[in-house]
Amino acid sequence: MRPRSPRGWPVNIDARRIPADVEAVCARLRAAGHQAHLVGGGIRDLLLGRPPADFDVATDAHPQQVMALFGSRYAIPTGLQHGTVTVVTNVDDGAGASLEPGVSSTHRESALGDDPGEMKPGGKPRNRHVEVTTFRGEGAYVDGRRPSSVTYVGSLDEDLSRRDFTMNAIGYDPISKVLTDPFEGRRDLAARRVRAVGDAEARFREDGLRPMRAIRQATQLEFDIDPPTLTAIGLTLDVFRKVSAERIRDEILKLLSARQPSMGIQLMRKTGMLAVVLPELLEGVGVAQNRFHKHDVYQHTLAVVDASTGDAVARLGALLHDIGKPRARQPREGAPGEFTFFKHEVVGAEMTDGICRRWKLSNADRDRVVALVQHHMFFYTPDWTDGTVRRFVRRIGPEVLPALFALREADIVGRGRNEDPEGELGELRRRIAAVHAEDAALRVGDLAIDGREVMRILERGPGREVGVLLERLLERVLDDPTLNTPAHLERLLKELVAPV
Ligand code: ATP
Ligand code: MG
Repeated sequence: MRPRSPRGWPVNIDARRIPADVEAVCARLRAAGHQAHLVGGGIRDLLLGRPPADFDVATDAHPQQVMALFGSRYAIPTGLQHGTVTVVTNVDDGAGASLEPGVSSTHRESALGDDPGEMKPGGKPRNRHVEVTTFRGEGAYVDGRRPSSVTYVGSLDEDLSRRDFTMNAIGYDPISKVLTDPFEGRRDLAARRVRAVGDAEARFREDGLRPMRAIRQATQLEFDIDPPTLTAIGLTLDVFRKVSAERIRDEILKLLSARQPSMGIQLMRKTGMLAVVLPELLEGVGVAQNRFHKHDVYQHTLAVVDASTGDAVARLGALLHDIGKPRARQPREGAPGEFTFFKHEVVGAEMTDGICRRWKLSNADRDRVVALVQHHMFFYTPDWTDGTVRRFVRRIGPEVLPALFALREADIVGRGRNEDPEGELGELRRRIAAVHAEDAALRVGDLAIDGREVMRILERGPGREVGVLLERLLERVLDDPTLNTPAHLERLLKELVAPV
């Protein structure tokens, strides 16, 4: 039996795209007399023909019943206070084959013994985490932050009614093949629009993150936001302000992973959200640059983000690369209407550090973003010696370099003058590849002797000076890699400490 759907709505479930292991979770719940419906983003993406990121199951079974049904080796009580149990399944590449959770002991081992993130050679994850959540409503929200309590409700419809957007409030029972769509989510999917379930302003006042989810999901799906829902964003900024930094950060990083993040940034600007989250970016609005740029700083930034590649953190580097420009701008002497942005990357790196701390990025991510902003202005000339190239690689760090080049390419594209980035970057890229190919020492750890040998040669104990000496040896080796042998380094070391 095909799911019934009103004529003209092109959205339908292709049941073959529901993974067998996900269906097996539903089948087990159904066999035990419970309901089981796929809900949320997974079913939305299936209706859109997009590969779902994850699968959520809504059930009338209580968490303890779900735990008992799948056993503690398969079921992890990840969010009991929210009614959520995570069931670990085994994803099989074979057509249609799947792990029936809890069936065989070999499966049992592999279902729980592996790192869920581990990839098979085929690139597919071995394990899947299916979140099984008891039908729930939500108690009163305190401060627009989090529901103060969770209450279980009796029906799928009630559960769907507390969800944020109509497209996310659709349920599908893969066993009886029944689709439940009480808020006309399929109509909105067909019209490519994000629409709040119920009264948008009231829903946004319950949870201040929802406005940002609306913008992020509209950007990811390249949908419009239904006008009343869009208007409600501006009306509820006072609640949005109270949302925790971590939740905002996660949304921003997801938004930056969309094909065209500028769409979301523009929506944030128009609704007033950008002034709350990243007011620094607004400083670039209307800030004209110079003859090299078609756009003002703000528009240029949007163009660079859209042209940028890499992960969300790399793209955050693109978003912030010129954040210091408005504050660093100076009129150019003798050239009316022209400006200089001397050291804007230094101003920008400091601002970026503050922004990343505000958003509570991890230290590693913050370091990467700050490095991208700080180094994005490198200027190569053909007179660089090989030593200069090695020093450059060392300063930036070999791990950051690919992202830095990608950022510069996007920066050139974002000038809007149809220039070929290869002309500006190609030669340096080739020379860096040559440096890597010769396997030259680029860090202290690459030297042919280490701290222990320094101490042995000089007959000294440990101390700060050992590190300083290694750095000085590296300086010499960067200029002349042939010096990186134990014998040469021992000689250089003795010269360095010899009294003058
Ligand atoms: P994604 O593709 O990012 O996973 P998603 O819609 O699945 O999108 P999740 O954060 O995984 O987003 O949430 C799963 C479902 O839970 C949503 O589809 C929605 O039904 C519901 N939901 C999530 N966050 C909220 C919220 N803040 N308010 C109401 N419902 C929410
Ligand atoms: Mg999801």
